[in-house]
Amino acid sequence: MNCKYCCVTCGAEADELSHHYKEGVIKIIHCKECQNPVDPYIELDDLLVFIDFVLLKLRAHRHVLFNIDKIKYNHIIKLSCALILANAYIKWFHLKNDQYQSIINQDHHIFYALEYGFYSNLFESFLEYTIRFGLIFLIAFAQWRQNWTRDRSMLLFRALILSSIGQLFILPLLIWSPDHRDYYGLLMSFIFTILCHTQALNASRLFSSLMSFLSSTIAILLSKYLLSIVSQNSFL
Ligand SMILES: [Zn+2]
Repeated sequence: MNCKYCCVTCGAEADELSHHYKEGVIKIIHCKECQNPVDPYIELDDLLVFIDFVLLKLRAHRHVLFNIDKIKYNHIIKLSCALILANAYIKWFHLKNDQYQSIINQDHHIFYALEYGFYSNLFESFLEYTIRFGLIFLIAFAQWRQNWTRDRSMLLFRALILSSIGQLFILPLLIWSPDHRDYYGLLMSFIFTILCHTQALNASRLFSSLMSFLSSTIAILLSKYLLSIVSQNSFL
């Protein structure tokens, strides 16, 4: 991985995205392989990039993964903490609604007072992500073996964290309908996360398209299954 950037159209490596001349002229660099601009997204607003990312466009995933310098490693760590907290809150929220009858009976104050359920859900959330990402790392390591490098580990971790943002989309649903379980939203988020992981792994050039889909699906299903053995909310 000597080249820093990536052509969003064909995935070929590139040395730079644009060239700045002394007169203030900026020239967009074209790809040596496909002759298209290496990254047209550098001229677009971040919101448009985000929309294309959510729409699972491979070009947008390549742009986010390789060509945005301002997403630093500490941002990825912070986002991973936010994902674990959001996942734990979703589990805890549904645990609270399991006790809805106790809310009607006005004896639910113990649930809020103790809050121990939240911390066990936080641990479950951490465990779920560890199992999911660990499995994908194992598959990648088995595939690359001696050619596996620290750069590839960083790239894979970045791809997995950025493609997990579907988890955050459930939070507005909980605010919108706080008094019942929203299985439909959870299912949509579940499917979106599989597809987003698939696209991100495919964009990372570490897996083929088929392996990206299979490893994402197996890792997510297996992490849910293993967690269901110890969790009260096995379907979340
Ligand atoms: Zn190209």
